[in-house]
Amino acid sequence: MSATPESQSCLPVVGSDTLVPLVDGRTVTYANLDCAASAPALQAVADRVTQVLPLYASVHRGAGYLSQVSTALYEASRQTIGAFVGARGDDVTVVTRNTTDSLNLLAGCIPADADGTPGRVLVLDVEHHANLLPWQRSAGGATVLHGAATVAETLEAIRDELARAPYALLALTGASNVTGELLPVAEVVAIAHAAGTRVALDGAQLVPHRRFSLEATDVDYISFSGHKTYAPFGSGALVGRRDWLDAGTPYLAGGGAVRQVDIDEVVWTNAPARHEAGSPNVVGAVALAAACDALAALPAGTLEAHEAFLRERLVTGLESIPGVQVVRAWADAADPVGVVTFSVVGHDPGLVAAYLSAEHGIGVRDGRFCAHPLLARLGYASGAVRASVGVGTTQEEVDRLVSALESYVTDGP
Ligand code: PLP
Repeated sequence: MSATPESQSCLPVVGSDTLVPLVDGRTVTYANLDCAASAPALQAVADRVTQVLPLYASVHRGAGYLSQVSTALYEASRQTIGAFVGARGDDVTVVTRNTTDSLNLLAGCIPADADGTPGRVLVLDVEHHANLLPWQRSAGGATVLHGAATVAETLEAIRDELARAPYALLALTGASNVTGELLPVAEVVAIAHAAGTRVALDGAQLVPHRRFSLEATDVDYISFSGHKTYAPFGSGALVGRRDWLDAGTPYLAGGGAVRQVDIDEVVWTNAPARHEAGSPNVVGAVALAAACDALAALPAGTLEAHEAFLRERLVTGLESIPGVQVVRAWADAADPVGVVTFSVVGHDPGLVAAYLSAEHGIGVRDGRFCAHPLLARLGYASGAVRASVGVGTTQEEVDRLVSALESYVTDGP
């Protein structure tokens, strides 16, 4: 088959040509098939970080030149990150450490009902633990909807539950970190808003894989992680409606989040600074903004076409191998992102992943993917293997995984 645009990487990532060949002189492909865990940084991100490293200084309160430059870089990065997810005019972009941080922050900002009852959250059992546990320990707690086998049943279950009881928030995966599947966001938002419930999307696996806009979808909050969006670890974002974030409990107590401190009284400032106490991660914000810029500069549809091509090829290849099952949460989910979990029936997922790494230089994830309830419900309580693609992944890498797995099944480990 001749090379198509979709079969090549669509943006250069760092490292792929510098890794030491480990296996039979072949280049290892550790990161490009494990993007859902952490995606390799873009070359554009590495270049930008190298540019700004000599410039950084503490932000927001220094009159010195570098402090001013750093403050400008940090605030411009915030702007870029918010714009990348289609922030509306009055939305707030809080720079966080990652998606987990963002969701925990939001969990402290859910307002009480008019009668003072703490606001409750509705979630599904398909969620990553980061989009489950913060709500369970929030003031109002969470209700978990179990077991709908189709998207249509899931939407129905959400509608019924929102009609049965008041919820402040529906916290929903943007795309599953296990199956790559997603729910139709416009329908979800319409159902939730009709019930007076806001929608927070866990965008950890959505934002790196699809163009997303708060404004276009009317989603209320989106969270995502830099290290899954082709930037390094340590930066992420929560973007969304200002009122809850201005009134919510400041995420961390400390300098920068306050207007005035007297011994007996503290006046907290508004969001985003309200939730960013302490010296912020200026370089992390700049890196994430650089990744957003590079992704936004791709022609419309490039990212989606690239991933759809690779996912289709991967799923077809895996399903052609006897004993390999691809995991699905919903029978009728359309257009999943490039995250594919599979099991080799009768084989320990840890051993399969170790074989792929040791014998073929391929890095994939194994285990339960921080989604224990979903894996248990689908019959994979002892785990599975996950491969995931991104902008730097090529057809050759996908083919290498499929043929390595064929060897494993045919010839044994
Ligand atoms: N949500 C989803 C869907 C994820 O895939 C992940 C990470 O794998 C998270 C949340 C948590 O992301 P982080 O570890 O960057 O906070």
